[in-house]
Parts: sequence; structure tokens; C-alpha cells
Amino acid sequence: IYKQIWDEIKKADNILLIAHINPDGDALGSELSLYPILKRMGKKVTVFNATKPLPEYLDFLPNFDKVTNKLPKKTDLTISFDCGSFDRLGLEEKPSFLINIDHHISNTNYGDINLIEPNHASTSQVIYDILKANNIDIPADTAVCIYTALVTDTGSFQYESVNDKVFECAADLVRCGVKPDFVSKMLFQRDRLSRLRLLAKAYETIEMCCEGKVAFVEVTKEMMEITGAIKDDTDTIVNSVRALAPVEVACMLREDDEGIKISLRSKNYADVSKIAQKHGGGGHIRAAGATIKGEFDFEKVKEMLKKDLKEIV
Ligand code: 5GP
Ligand code: MN
Ligand code: MN
Repeated sequence: IYKQIWDEIKKADNILLIAHINPDGDALGSELSLYPILKRMGKKVTVFNATKPLPEYLDFLPNFDKVTNKLPKKTDLTISFDCGSFDRLGLEEKPSFLINIDHHISNTNYGDINLIEPNHASTSQVIYDILKANNIDIPADTAVCIYTALVTDTGSFQYESVNDKVFECAADLVRCGVKPDFVSKMLFQRDRLSRLRLLAKAYETIEMCCEGKVAFVEVTKEMMEITGAIKDDTDTIVNSVRALAPVEVACMLREDDEGIKISLRSKNYADVSKIAQKHGGGGHIRAAGATIKGEFDFEKVKEMLKKDLKEIV
């Protein structure tokens, strides 16, 4: 299948690269990673993401400015990255031919070709394997994208998905021109004061239950308005709540336009992707999410989740 995917790429002239809405480092890094290589091959390439504006903290990714939210007129081949279900691509219609490259265990195999590697640490690591299997040279611009996606999806090489292959991949990307300290500084040393102010407010709402194994944290629209925080500023709150010593599962509830967005993170053994799927979302064993549409009562959602979580912690 690694060879088959490259054959399809070679055949196509107009290629559309896409990733999930509200992109993270893996989504954006993955969809941008093939851009320099495909351009070098003489292809017409569009890098699409339905979300606008894109997260500012990823603006250092090479060709970030090429990402558009307008679809091209003509497409022979669409490749989606890091997206577990078709609805999270933000497309109105099914593309004529779609290759689905991902590492979500919950992936629904919505493509004409599906390459899903749930044991890979990031979708970008799957791309790396495709390039290696086809003896493709990796330019520095591509390497930076693949590496950044690897860093963000592994929590800086901390998660269970990290193994010898991940470090070998990272080492090779450094040989291809990545400066790890540059990527780290871009990702982690450009923090926003509004984000810290939001953290301060959110941490006040932390509620522990199940003998401390479960922790909830809340983010309301009011908190965001008072602190001037943006949605991106909420991204890592749930991770720092999981870091509390007794916690196995941390859950953030965020008030959104459509309802309450939940983000679940587990530490050692709880499979939170199952709970997210039960509520119409998805994700990985240790990181998953969903939106409870039309529901704005935090207490109600917490009670519901407590029942689910009691069973698995
Ligand atoms: P987060 O909590 O950071 O939004 O998401 C954690 C993980 O769960 C990510 O891998 C993300 O792709 C997945 N995820 C989050 N929300 C949803 C959702 O509504 N639907 C699906 N299918 N996956 C989600
Ligand atoms: Mn992602
Ligand atoms: Mn990913």
C-alpha cells in the first residue's frame, strides 16, 4: 500500500492535500509536508484547510502561507491527513478519488485507499514511512513539518506511542535539516499572556472525583472574553490537569457555539476514545474529544461523564 499510494500520486496532476478542521501540529504539519516534494515533481498542489484563521503558533511551518480555505476547480487526487472521519474534513462533497492517511484508531475508512496506522505516534510518521518506502529524498522544509507534527502529537516525545522507530525517524529528520531547538522555541517559547490568564481562571474550576482519579476543568465563554483568550489558548489545559499526581483521566469542558466541547486525556490505562465515540466524537486511547451538541449545562455533562468514567478508572 505504501508503494500503491505513491503510484497514485505519480499519476495525478492536480493534487489536493487536506486535514481535519481546527488543525493541530500533526494535521497542519502533515498536510504541508508533501507540498515541497509534490511541487518539485511538477504537480499542481493545493493545501486546504476549512478552518480560518489557522492557529498562529504553527505559523513557522514552511509554506504556512500557502494553506487556503478555497477549493480548487480541478482535482484528480485528494489526500486527507490525520482525520478520523469524513465530516471533520469540512468538505461539502466527496472527492472523486480520496486517499485517507491517518493514525486514529477510530478512523472510519472513508477513503478509496485507507492507510491507518494506529501504532504510529503521528500521521506525519506515516508520511515519513511512505517517503522512505519509495526512496524519496526529504527536503528540509518537509522534515520540519514532519518533525513538528511528531513533537506536538507525542507531547514532546513523552507518550506511550514513543518508541525506537519514533526516535529513529526524529534523528533522520534532524539529518535532513531540522533544528530541534528552533522548533521547540517556535512551539513553546512564544506563549500568550491571555493564555496564562485563562489558565488561572480555568484552574479555579478543577473538580476531582472518583478518589482523585478523575478531574474536570471548565472553560466558559465568559472566561475567554474576560482574558481575551482565543480557542487555541485552551489546547493544553486538559494536559496539565492530567499531570496531577492521582489523576488517570482529565476532562475539559468548553462552552462552544454548538454546545459543550469535551476533551479527554488519560495517563496509564483508561481508553477514553471509547467514551468520546459514545458521545459522537473520537480520537485515541489517551486523547479523545467530542462535542455534545445543543447542550450548555456543564453540571449535566459532568454527571453524564462521571457515570462513564467510573466504569473505566
Ligand atoms: P482534542 O481534545 O484536543 O480536541 O482532541 C483529542 C483527539 O481527539 C484528537 O486526536 C482529535 O482528532 C480527536 N477528536 C477531538 N474531538 C473530536 C470529535 O469531535 N470527533 C472526532 N472524531 N475526533 C475528535
Ligand atoms: Mn490531529
Ligand atoms: Mn495526529
